[in-house]
Amino acid sequence: MPRLVEKKDKKFSLFLNKGRCGGCRACVCVCPTGILEMSDELNYRIAYIPQVIEEKAQYCTGCRRCEYCCPEWCIYVLDDERQSSGETA
Ligand code: SF4
Ligand code: SF4
Repeated sequence: MPRLVEKKDKKFSLFLNKGRCGGCRACVCVCPTGILEMSDELNYRIAYIPQVIEEKAQYCTGCRRCEYCCPEWCIYVLDDERQSSGETA
């Protein structure tokens, strides 16, 4: 699954299931640190998908607001412990 942000210091990563995204922009709107933007990449649903603004990746707090608002359950935060145990969202 494509990893958007890896925060080794805080032990979590942000992932996006690109194929499931519907391009609604909700995650971009709710992110309190403004690290997300819509990209010009289309998925097979013909939806533009979000991306992390490169220089802002460090500001992801792992707050999960993007995850909670996503109607497709395709953007989510996993902590390192769950990743190493093989769990997925
Ligand atoms: S986890 Fe929080 S800070 Fe990180 S991208 Fe999602 S809404 Fe933004
Ligand atoms: S909220 Fe979910 S479906 Fe909407 S643009 Fe973000 S990742 Fe895609």
